[in-house]
Amino acid sequence: MFDNWEGLEHACMQCRTCSLCNTRHHVVFGVGNRNAEVLFIGEGPGENEDLQGEPFVGRGGQLLDKMLNAIDLDRNRNIYIANIVKCRPPQNRDPFQEEQEACIPWLRNQVSLMKPKIIVCLGRIAGMRLIKPDLKITKEHGVFFDRNGIVMMATLHPAALLRNPGQKPGAFDDFLKLRDKIEEICDHTY
Ligand code: SF4
Repeated sequence: MFDNWEGLEHACMQCRTCSLCNTRHHVVFGVGNRNAEVLFIGEGPGENEDLQGEPFVGRGGQLLDKMLNAIDLDRNRNIYIANIVKCRPPQNRDPFQEEQEACIPWLRNQVSLMKPKIIVCLGRIAGMRLIKPDLKITKEHGVFFDRNGIVMMATLHPAALLRNPGQKPGAFDDFLKLRDKIEEICDHTY
């Protein structure tokens, strides 16, 4: 466990704990304000993210940024974005359980340094891993849970919204609920 971001990031960038290290171009550590009160967590890097070393930078990332901006959130200003696994699973498959187990200590360390008030899980995998294993994302997106004093919510993954644009209004409702929750419990996000 590292007590500072610099040490944590340096160690993470060298990580070879699971076999995803063999096919990655970059470790995608995370991006944003390290003092943020709101943390977004996806499942893992895709192709663009692996090539650029930053989470959510493809078409899905552009959609995410638009939805964030609509509620006055910005990855360069008042939130942080990370993933369950920090190296790209080949062909964008779901990360295996053992890969999640190997990688989650990095995320836990990020959470312990950041101490977010709200965590938003982007998609089913992150929601099942961090909120509850039987989470039904289609029914339970936008629902707030309390986990160890942190308010948690899952919403639909941006890539899923690109595949199913009919789900966008439901996801946007989640963001409106998030804005209300931020106004209720956060001190310096807005
Ligand atoms: S996915 Fe995580 S545990 Fe596996 S090599 Fe990358 S940083 Fe290490």
